[in-house]
Amino acid sequence: MDYKKLADRLFPEEYKPLSAYEEMYPPRALPKGAEVTRLAPSPTGFIHLGNLFVAVANERIAHRSGGVIYLRIEDTDLKRKVDGAVEAVIEAMSYFDIHFDEGAEIEAANEYAPYYQRQRAELYHAFAKSLVEKGRAYPCFCSEEELSALRETQTAEKKITGYYGEYAKCRNLSEEEIYRNLDAGKPYVLRLKSLGDPENKLKFRDEIKGEITVTENDQDVVILKSDGIPTYHFAHAIDDHFMRTTLVLRGEEWLSSLPVHIELFDALGFTRPRYGHNCSLMKQDGETRRKLSKRKDPELSLGFYRQEGYHPRAVKVYILTLLNSDFEDWYRKFPDKPLEEFPFKAAKMSKSGTLFDLDKLNDVAKNEFARLSAEEAFAFLNDWAQEFGSEAERAYFADREYMHKALALCMGTAGKKRRKDFATAKQAVGLLSYFFENPVSREAYRVAEAGKTAILRAFLQTYCAADDAQTWFGKVKAVAEQEGFASDMKEYKARPEDFKGSVSDVAEVLRIAVTGKANTPDLWTIMQILGEKETVKRISEQIS
Ligand code: GLU
Repeated sequence: MDYKKLADRLFPEEYKPLSAYEEMYPPRALPKGAEVTRLAPSPTGFIHLGNLFVAVANERIAHRSGGVIYLRIEDTDLKRKVDGAVEAVIEAMSYFDIHFDEGAEIEAANEYAPYYQRQRAELYHAFAKSLVEKGRAYPCFCSEEELSALRETQTAEKKITGYYGEYAKCRNLSEEEIYRNLDAGKPYVLRLKSLGDPENKLKFRDEIKGEITVTENDQDVVILKSDGIPTYHFAHAIDDHFMRTTLVLRGEEWLSSLPVHIELFDALGFTRPRYGHNCSLMKQDGETRRKLSKRKDPELSLGFYRQEGYHPRAVKVYILTLLNSDFEDWYRKFPDKPLEEFPFKAAKMSKSGTLFDLDKLNDVAKNEFARLSAEEAFAFLNDWAQEFGSEAERAYFADREYMHKALALCMGTAGKKRRKDFATAKQAVGLLSYFFENPVSREAYRVAEAGKTAILRAFLQTYCAADDAQTWFGKVKAVAEQEGFASDMKEYKARPEDFKGSVSDVAEVLRIAVTGKANTPDLWTIMQILGEKETVKRISEQIS
């Protein structure tokens, strides 16, 4: 077979000598040990938590080593492409404080551009041509129908499915048959001619999973589709070589293709990057653990964290907790050090399924929220409300001083022991709503209707907004006594049958009337913030 002739027929265009591409994209001048990592999303418009996990790991590894992280857009599948998806990736990542040093839509240092795979056709074709010349790639004219018939036969015969060995029909076409097909204008894909033998097992060091055994590839995988667009496998080999990636850290779903990638790098004569395969994110679902699913679990989408108003730092801290098992201890020891100082390592990443637990994230989020200064909390909540809140919620932030009073009460003062009520902005704004609006719904009163009315009436008769906290509480106790409730808890506990309830029931009635909630921070302060008029109005309205 005259491979040179076939290559010229398949790729009539003259390309630069391959060495010219090596010079165009030379190895990077980086200090020893510096890692070049990347995020390589497809612009489908759906970026998920798995992307963020991989991005956090890649970013930490690159920047801790004095290296580079870049953004490459894997846009070979036009059907799945969504307008604005690239901007959305950049925006989502930057929300979580992940900034790329170079890549798609990033102005600085685009030496290894283009970063959109669609714009890299010349490279793919030049190297595909070289594989044909070397007899390592061939055109395959099999139709979809033929391929699915093949799959059915293989399945029936309990054989591994795919295009390989004796099943790789077009691998053995004669020169004459190939040219006849080409002359007839038959569509074809380009396949790798695999030389691997699945009997051969090789030891492979995965940066996350450690030593693993890999079976040699024998699949003649497609490298260029019939429209000349590369498959993931081929584009990965070309791009990670010419962008000089040192560490390919990607999702575990790619582990099964690793043998293909190893063979491709070898066939192309490229030095392989190192690989790390990040385990899938799991969720506890009753008794079982399952992968997070796009359909069932809103928390898989990164949009969820924005809409709910999780502080980006909280998400990051939780992700770091899951990515490196010693992060939690480190963070406990050095709560005030920048997160960047944590010695992040791929080798410390979990080897099998990571359990993602929203309750744990909420705990982390409450701690992180409590670390915000009053100004930071105001700005964070305000930003969330302006983007995602209702019209009424947006208006909460108009009176800065007033909101600060509510926040000071609900969060406590910085430096002192803080309350930890707020996990997300959405929940916090919800909890703050009674400072701004008369609650539309109220939690159930524990006290019977008549008792409730009597308490509210009696309180209104003695209430004076100028009272200090102690005087105010004295009056609440007096109301309790007057209405047959114990004003002293000890007394109540000793003889509960003698009372309708205790002063805490009385306070609860007042609390629900004013705030709608049975649990709030200090009620006297809430009444102070609301002011006399509003307090009296809310209580009066509850008197039926
Ligand atoms: N485009 C691939 C994906 O989104 C990239 C995988 C990789 O990081 O190599 O899954």
